[in-house]
Amino acid sequence: MTAGEATIEATTTEQRRAGLEAIAAEVRVCTRCRLAQGRTKAVPGEGHPDTEVLFVGEGPGQTEDAQGRPFVGRAGELLVRMLASIGWRRQEVFITNIVKCRPPGNRDPEPDEIAACAPYLQRQLEVLDPAVVVTLGRFSMAHFRPGERITQIHGTHAAAPTSTGARDALAYALFHPAAALRSTDVERQSYDDIAGLPRVLTEARARRASARTGAPVAEATPEPTIALAAASAGDDLGDDAPTLF
Ligand code: URA
Ligand code: SF4
Repeated sequence: MTAGEATIEATTTEQRRAGLEAIAAEVRVCTRCRLAQGRTKAVPGEGHPDTEVLFVGEGPGQTEDAQGRPFVGRAGELLVRMLASIGWRRQEVFITNIVKCRPPGNRDPEPDEIAACAPYLQRQLEVLDPAVVVTLGRFSMAHFRPGERITQIHGTHAAAPTSTGARDALAYALFHPAAALRSTDVERQSYDDIAGLPRVLTEARARRASARTGAPVAEATPEPTIALAAASAGDDLGDDAPTLF
């Protein structure tokens, strides 16, 4: 066994949970950018520490700002329905945003705000080491698929830059659920796109296994029915008990 493998295997659920909670504690009191001034609660993100799939949105809206939790407003309800369409639940993935505090009036986040907040996302990526990063909307896509256009690359994947903190992940681009709430065309397209996600996870797993063992990429394996690392996919996912960070 190489040193690298030892490091990966030594990371336990509890270590990941503690790492995520440490990041969240810093986010809750962060004043690194002007968005700190207008927020009610910072929104670090939440989900399962063993997940293989990280969803990254843009920034908290009004409901998220009030509750300190990501995607709990109307866009979040749609995201949950989209996840249900592939048999996944929000508590088996991890959900966060490019900026952790609400931009006033839901304006777009500014480049300096995104840059100030990026180290938190980077550290979340380092702790979770997801196989797939699902980008929701333009700002998240720009971070993981720079130079692309959402209308052209939605429903496609590419390697996430390691500069983001992703060690070896595929970045899969989806429209923002808020855009799907405004357009039935985008909504239909979003359901089509998320239907491709289990297959992308299968491909990402095969890529990582091959990169870590040097073996050739394996032929298709059955599509995952749960976005959790196989070793830890247990039945401890209480319906009302998401792990909060
Ligand atoms: N929109 C986002 O981009 N993120 C949220 O958390 C909620 C709505
Ligand atoms: Fe800090 Fe990010 Fe909030 Fe800005 S948006 S105050 S960098 S947590």
